[in-house]
Amino acid sequence: MKLPAITIPDRYNYIATFLTLNCNLRCSYCINRFSDLKAPGKMLSGKEWIAGLSRIVSRPDLPVTLGGGEPTLHPDFHEIVNGISEELNIDLLTNLQFDISRFKAEISPERIKRESPYASIRVSYHPEVMDLEALVDKVLNLQNAGYSIGIWGVLHPLHEAEVLKARDFCIGLGIDFRTKEFLGEYDGIMYGSYSYPGAFDKKGVKNVRCRTSELIIGPGGDVFRCHSDLYDGFSPVGNILDPDFYIDESFRSCERYGFCNPCDVKLKTDRFQVYGHTSVEIIR
Ligand code: SF4
Ligand code: SF4
Repeated sequence: MKLPAITIPDRYNYIATFLTLNCNLRCSYCINRFSDLKAPGKMLSGKEWIAGLSRIVSRPDLPVTLGGGEPTLHPDFHEIVNGISEELNIDLLTNLQFDISRFKAEISPERIKRESPYASIRVSYHPEVMDLEALVDKVLNLQNAGYSIGIWGVLHPLHEAEVLKARDFCIGLGIDFRTKEFLGEYDGIMYGSYSYPGAFDKKGVKNVRCRTSELIIGPGGDVFRCHSDLYDGFSPVGNILDPDFYIDESFRSCERYGFCNPCDVKLKTDRFQVYGHTSVEIIR
């Protein structure tokens, strides 16, 4: 299946590919469940993902990021990584709860490696559901085999001390360990830094105009305006397998402001690790 090219606009900062929204862990603060995550619908096959993603024309510094859920749960995960056009760089977001022997046997370290200020395989550490030593063993194993890999820990108020201790432990072992702000509410306090406070307070909706700087592709190949639409299964703006699909950069009207996802409106670093970026621009 050969599809026309989709060129990523210069303004775009992220290509987020959700191979599946399923996960083998259940973190209490999972951002995918900020609202009521809809039951997963159609899931593209490996061949469909390869056809859809290989039509993307991007830049060396803007990889296709495979995430989820846990992307390695996709039954054709290895085929997808090896089948995507070699013109595209790949990053992987994972909880690393998979068989690393098969991973090492089937995926070359060179396929998920590029010049960047952070690791290409980014492992999330969740102390409430993971054993740190087992995770560290796997990370060191992959690192020693030549993979570009690092660990990220979320500074959730309940787990902050444990995450910081894990960071010191990992850095001492030569592992790149970074922390991420916790986004969302805990014990009546809202955590995170946002460009549009009130965008996700769920106190009512407001009509706005909005545009993103991310290509967000759901498990069925649907393209969404934002993470809130993706997780809520709200009307997609196209599909990666539609030959007529192109990236429309105009502001779209939205009647769901108030139910945005913190991911879209938070202040964060861009792909160059420069702080102050927000995924969406909203005109209220
Ligand atoms: S590992 Fe990630 S996707 Fe899975 S439940 Fe935890 S936070 Fe959510
Ligand atoms: S205003 Fe919020 S819900 Fe609407 S498209 Fe933008 S980020 Fe999504």
